[in-house]
Amino acid sequence: MIQKNDSFIVKIEDMTTEGEGIGKVEGFPLFIKDTVIGDEAEIKVIKVKKTYGYGRLMRLLVPSKDRVEPACPVARQCGGCQLQAMAYEKQLELKQKKVKNNLARIGGLTEVEVQPVIGMEYPFRYRNKTQVPFGKDKEGRIVAGFYAGRTHTIIDQEDCLLAQPVCKTIIHIMKQFMEEFHIEPYDEQAHRGLVRHLLIRNGYYTGQIMVCVIINGTKLPHSEELIRRLCGIEGMTSICLNINRERTNVIMGKQMVWLYGTHYIEDRIGDIRYRISPLSFFQVNPLQTKKLYDTALSFAGLTGEETVWDLYCGIGTISLFLARHAKMVYGVEIVEPAIEDARTNALANGITNAQFFVGKAEEVLPEQYRTKQVKADVIVVDPPRKGCDETLLETIAAMQPKRVVYVSCDSATLARDLKYLTGAGYEVKRVQPVEMFALGGHVETVCLLSNRKPDSYVHLNLKMEDYYRIKDAQKEQGKK
Ligand code: SAH
Repeated sequence: MIQKNDSFIVKIEDMTTEGEGIGKVEGFPLFIKDTVIGDEAEIKVIKVKKTYGYGRLMRLLVPSKDRVEPACPVARQCGGCQLQAMAYEKQLELKQKKVKNNLARIGGLTEVEVQPVIGMEYPFRYRNKTQVPFGKDKEGRIVAGFYAGRTHTIIDQEDCLLAQPVCKTIIHIMKQFMEEFHIEPYDEQAHRGLVRHLLIRNGYYTGQIMVCVIINGTKLPHSEELIRRLCGIEGMTSICLNINRERTNVIMGKQMVWLYGTHYIEDRIGDIRYRISPLSFFQVNPLQTKKLYDTALSFAGLTGEETVWDLYCGIGTISLFLARHAKMVYGVEIVEPAIEDARTNALANGITNAQFFVGKAEEVLPEQYRTKQVKADVIVVDPPRKGCDETLLETIAAMQPKRVVYVSCDSATLARDLKYLTGAGYEVKRVQPVEMFALGGHVETVCLLSNRKPDSYVHLNLKMEDYYRIKDAQKEQGKK
């Protein structure tokens, strides 16, 4: 039995998405922070659960040959990057392996080939969005930076190697402004104080900048002075407040107050211009986003004749990227302002064959299918980490598109959903991971599924009424 405070010598064999090394003692896995694959280390057990435990690195006996000196001075404490202590090519190999393992273990897809991750040439300074929490240190000074791993302790760090250099200037201006005008940062414990976070968005190609101050209140005193200072920065396009008075970990509230400039910034991916509002989702790595969408486009195999549904469409990024190559694209997204952006984006790019719906993908698509008998040749899904709702997968299976392109930010839920779709007559043809979060533990994956049934059969389509009759009957059976 392994117990707390026991010491062992372990070899690190794998790593978690959170960047902890995994070593085994008599087959029992231990997660050990600050270790990387290939390390041999002396560790002390700090917590034991039923099937796994946590260890602390006490002494590095033989460092892994894949270790590198992190470029960032706070890499070890900060929770932002997880893999900085590992050579970049090894990070990519690790991510490829993770996708492969999840597909096999969770999806039962042992035969599927997973391509090497499409990586970055320079894995720093790539983010177009930076969010920094504000708080106070023990001496009562204002601090701003990044949360330490798994905690809400703020590490005071104005420059982040993933962010654009201008963010440092903006954070510094904000800190000084708060000190000078005695504006209190938010205190999570006491639910008091005003300034919670600063959100900075940069247009990679346009150079436009948006600064949004998230406050626990309705007004920011002396905001005209803050605007004056921020406007000294080249590219400042939009300054706003976001009101979040809830006791919550969710960063943004729903209400906006506009202080300066436009209500959005613009950026480009390929030859499409996108309008981005503070509350809308937009991929954080613009260089890699182009590669991601090119992959999705090539997997979609469009000839110009297809009807495409783009589910979880955000501000219509993928929809518009595909629209030029398809007959018609329908986008579905839950965040209403994002859909407003999507519609504006379509207009601004002269795209007339795209239509957008506000709502949950798992409600809108079944509803459209049931009441309007809509069809799809290709369905693209790009869900958040929790993956697709089963009602949605059911509807996709019933609609029988020729191809499904699954863009995923979590290979575990991807594997679960692929298991469902392969069980419903689809075959996994291509799996292409793309690096979107360099130095972080996560990996994006684009997957092509094609319908195993011949085209002639697909076009007959499973009759909807039959499909739902079978489904309802199965549900009834389940209840009994
Ligand atoms: N395809 C877009 C956005 C992907 S992120 C892009 O590449 O930019 C996932 C999106 O799904 C977010 O915009 C989120 O708001 C949205 N979303 C989350 N749950 C949803 C649901 N149940 N139905 C529809 N959209 C949802």
